[in-house]
Amino acid sequence: MHLSYQYRIYPRPSQEATLESWRKELGYLWNFALAQRKDAWEREHRPVSYLDQQESLATWRSFDARGLGQVRYVVAQNLLQELDLAYRSFFRRVKDGERRPGYPRFKKDGTVRSFRFNYADTYVKIGTSATDRRVRLSGIGYVPIVVHREPPADGKLLTATVSREADRWLLTLVYELPDPAPPPPPEVAPANPVGIDLGIMHPLALSTGEVVEPLRPLEAAEERLKREQRRLARKEKGSNNHRKQAAKVARCHQRVADRRKDLCHKLTSRIAREHDLVAVEALNVPGMVRGPLAKAILDAPWGRMRSMLEYKLAMRSGRYVEVDPRGTTQTCSACGRVADPPLALGERVFACPCRHREDRDVNAARNVLHRGCDSVRRMSSEVKPAERTPPPRTGGRRVYRGRRATSRNQEDASRPEGEGSPGAIPGRRKPPGRRG
Ligand SMILES: [Zn+2]
Repeated sequence: MHLSYQYRIYPRPSQEATLESWRKELGYLWNFALAQRKDAWEREHRPVSYLDQQESLATWRSFDARGLGQVRYVVAQNLLQELDLAYRSFFRRVKDGERRPGYPRFKKDGTVRSFRFNYADTYVKIGTSATDRRVRLSGIGYVPIVVHREPPADGKLLTATVSREADRWLLTLVYELPDPAPPPPPEVAPANPVGIDLGIMHPLALSTGEVVEPLRPLEAAEERLKREQRRLARKEKGSNNHRKQAAKVARCHQRVADRRKDLCHKLTSRIAREHDLVAVEALNVPGMVRGPLAKAILDAPWGRMRSMLEYKLAMRSGRYVEVDPRGTTQTCSACGRVADPPLALGERVFACPCRHREDRDVNAARNVLHRGCDSVRRMSSEVKPAERTPPPRTGGRRVYRGRRATSRNQEDASRPEGEGSPGAIPGRRKPPGRRG
């Protein structure tokens, strides 16, 4: 399986100048290569392929020895591959008849935000000295790095991406690791399963009775962000002060995103550690981000949480199941009766004639758990012992539903995880891993 590790790097001023010049040269190359494809098609109806452009790359580099010629070949080559990918996705969307297929765009400010080394084990080396941590980036030099977590000893480094985010530089390393042991076969009952309800009032309710308070770091930081944005509006555009204030606003956004990601990691790591089967509602999240609740939904980082749960379970040979979400809120988790009249959006407690009373989201989470366990049981009865073969595997993971395993979403998969603690106590309300 592929896992990515992200580190902050602190380039020296001269190194930063090199990084910035690469961003500029690559932005120029992108715009040039895109224009070449576009013009050839518009004027002569002649397609230009990635291979055509890759063959010209050496010539382009020799013409511009002090500019593009300074950028490592492998990095420039990757940029052309990315452009090719952008075209392929565009053609695919056209074929699918999408209304806005999204033609590849020019870089308006003439720079790229990030660039990538392929075959990174040749070009990138993290130093092992305990006192002086630096990473060697081919063509840039020995750049100071904070290794908050050691990269895997048994992993092969595939790609390294250098990106600029607000005022900082990040290095993202993707490693190929040996596949973890597959999860147990479906006929083995899970020892400690959990169902999760992704609600609107709470991002997470667990079938154990735990309700996780909203992950809304935005709300806390929002005031500050608003203040800084108001200040920005008062500055004269194009002035030095405007530029400085814009950087401040970007940093505010960054902090919010960091905090959110951190909370997600802590929460999903704990769930994956404490449970060997996790059932989640299969929700069409992109389709739901509309209407007046849009902000609350966008704020709850569901998509990220699901993909984190999925790979963290896979790493621990646990099971991740997605179930049909229909009716989970309106069904009694004790007797299976459907609520009549249905529960209104504001009603917090599910009360059934069978005398079952429970927090609305916890009740839904229990239904999700029942359905998850049912679907695993169904899988074991569907397979006759004689023809029992391992299910298809994608990227080292078993796929139970239609979700495709992608390694790209696996940010920071490497959190070291301590020994498992006992299962969550029913009725416990606890904010997600908040410190201090
Ligand atoms: Zn009931």
